[in-house]
Amino acid sequence: MEDEILKIENLQVNYGSIKAVKGISISVQKGSIVTIIGSNGAGKSTTLGAISGLTRPSGGKIIFRDRDITRLGAAKTSQLGISLVPEGRRIFPNLTVRENMMMGAYNRKNKEEVQENFKTVFTLFPRLKERLKQPGGTLSGGEQQMLAIGRSLMANPDLIMMDEPSLGLAPIVVEEVFKAIQSLNSKGVTILLVEQNAAKALEISRYAYVLETGCVTLQGDAKKLLESEEVRKVYLGI
Ligand code: ATP
Repeated sequence: MEDEILKIENLQVNYGSIKAVKGISISVQKGSIVTIIGSNGAGKSTTLGAISGLTRPSGGKIIFRDRDITRLGAAKTSQLGISLVPEGRRIFPNLTVRENMMMGAYNRKNKEEVQENFKTVFTLFPRLKERLKQPGGTLSGGEQQMLAIGRSLMANPDLIMMDEPSLGLAPIVVEEVFKAIQSLNSKGVTILLVEQNAAKALEISRYAYVLETGCVTLQGDAKKLLESEEVRKVYLGI
């Protein structure tokens, strides 16, 4: 049996009196791509925020490689090998591509390893290499998404979480981003994906969860969910 890299048990997150996540359990196998789909406000970003330590859970447990990380905070989870590519990319428009990438490596000490990471990112996204000295804000939407993914790779993560990586991108660029996600995964990085583009996300995933108003309402093999009537009707519009 493969290793479970991430295990979430009965996770709850409240914002004041709003119960955004109401006791969900999620398991991610090492080396896999797992997707969370769900409509707006279902609690997907909140879940990623809780895993990365940006948002404090109200209850439940988050275990990463057998270690309880439920209340560790973002700096520590990043050191342990978890990286988040946030919704909306959040790159620094006035910093160059190189400086943006270095932000992802802020807690790395070994300079040679950081140089290796630059090489890995350039293999995946050659266009970033051509634009190293250019301000991040001058990149196209697709290039900014690649920069956001590249920046998170600079932390050398074992688990990378991406929040809506295809949002607002032209169809051809969406293809490119999904190819990059698969290529990254083939290099051994485990991926937890949150996507509105359910069809594309399910196609490349091994397992998936459907989140509705803070609860997991469906889960299973991604290819099976693609065929499920409920998913087809609600998320694929078929
Ligand atoms: P979307 O696809 O629209 O980003 P989502 O599934 O990622 O949706 P969340 O952003 O996790 O959903 O939001 C879950 C619920 O928590 C929503 O009802 C939202 O309004 C609420 N919420 C999120 N962030 C906060 C916050 N900082 N303060 C108060 N309520 C919040």
